[in-house]
Amino acid sequence: MLDFNFYNPTQIVFGQDRLAELNDQIPADAKVMVLYGGGSVKRFGTLDKISESLGSREVIQFGGIEPNPQFETLMKAVELVHSEGVDFLLAVGGGSVMDGTKFVALATQADSEHHTLLFHGFEPVPLSEAMPLGCVVTLPATGSEMNAFGVVTFNDQKYPFMSPLVFPKFSFLDPNLTLTLPDEQVANGVADAFVHVIEQYLTYPVNARVQDRMAEGLLKTLIEVGPVTLADSSDIEARKNFIWSATMALNGVVGSGVPHDWSTHMIGHELTAMFHIAHGRTLAIILPSLLRERKDKKHAKLLQFAERVWDITEGSDDDRIDSAIDKTESFFNSLGIVTHLTHYDIDDAGIDTVVANMEKMGLTALSETGDLTLDIVRKILIAAK
Ligand code: NAP
Ligand code: FE
Repeated sequence: MLDFNFYNPTQIVFGQDRLAELNDQIPADAKVMVLYGGGSVKRFGTLDKISESLGSREVIQFGGIEPNPQFETLMKAVELVHSEGVDFLLAVGGGSVMDGTKFVALATQADSEHHTLLFHGFEPVPLSEAMPLGCVVTLPATGSEMNAFGVVTFNDQKYPFMSPLVFPKFSFLDPNLTLTLPDEQVANGVADAFVHVIEQYLTYPVNARVQDRMAEGLLKTLIEVGPVTLADSSDIEARKNFIWSATMALNGVVGSGVPHDWSTHMIGHELTAMFHIAHGRTLAIILPSLLRERKDKKHAKLLQFAERVWDITEGSDDDRIDSAIDKTESFFNSLGIVTHLTHYDIDDAGIDTVVANMEKMGLTALSETGDLTLDIVRKILIAAK
């Protein structure tokens, strides 16, 4: 196992119909800004429940944070925070709203050049303070509700950022708030959570037995409850397990003391930025093809994945690995997610643009050892056609 520090201060309030407890989580004298997306939380009554809980406090609303949140939109929220004297941010929505709110929390502390806060990758944003924030989650997927990461789009590029200052103070996880999700969003969420676990698991082995078995437990759970949650919205127990798996997938627990290979996410971000494919779907396109291309490098853990996650115990090593990757792709397909670029009308010219753009962004040495070059990215994309 590798050395690690583990820190996670987010309080989780998990369960059905617990929004009445929201007010108690926010300092009594705080002026709150509620941030939300394109309106689903208005249409489905979540904002009303929140207003009811927050009672007579002074609350400002900021709507219109788009999927893959845009820097310009978030800067409007920053202006409003300053002009209205807001001191607590409440994100109500999915990953885009939570990530956007994290950016606002940081950007309110910077005087100028706010876009440069996005230029630090996975190093902490160099600020000493952020405005406190909490989340009400309506889409289980990203794990943003219990981590210190965000992704914001600036000049048509997706920029990941991180800061321990933006761990939410609390996050409400209520399965009832997710019942209005279209099937497509549920499927995207399952795929995103699944790939988060994979990217902290299918690396070179480090004998991290605890993390491996937790990761395998999460993967098996997602394989079980993902399709059930899609097929039967009344199965609240399946949905609860999906929701908690998505949070656990990226809250630092399974990722402590192990190498990380975020290549699928980094290539996927380009597909979203250039072709507007939803985040979870981009991962389902890239992952099977990436695993096939990286079979030798990931041999030991792929074999373990085949045996422990997919219960494949017969055949040569190669057969088991091939079968595990095929089953992974079929799992995405079973959720209604297509896994090839041609389904999105992306051809060779599109692949060239992706590779050129990654070069421009300096994404030339991906994987846990930095050996995934742009030539390999190209091969992965061609194989994903
Ligand atoms: P999202 O972009 O937040 O939301 C997708 C859509 O779902 C929106 O149109 C939203 O509509 C709708 N929606 C949300 N809740 C709903 C509900 N309960 N009922 C009906 N519709 C609902 O999706 P996401 O997958 O959660 O987030 C994706 C973003 O997170 C990407 O930018 C990705 O890069 C990022 N990400 C972050 C992390 C992290 O660690 N922070 C990890 C992975 C990905 P409205 O806008 O109308 O509400
Ligand atoms: Fe993700």
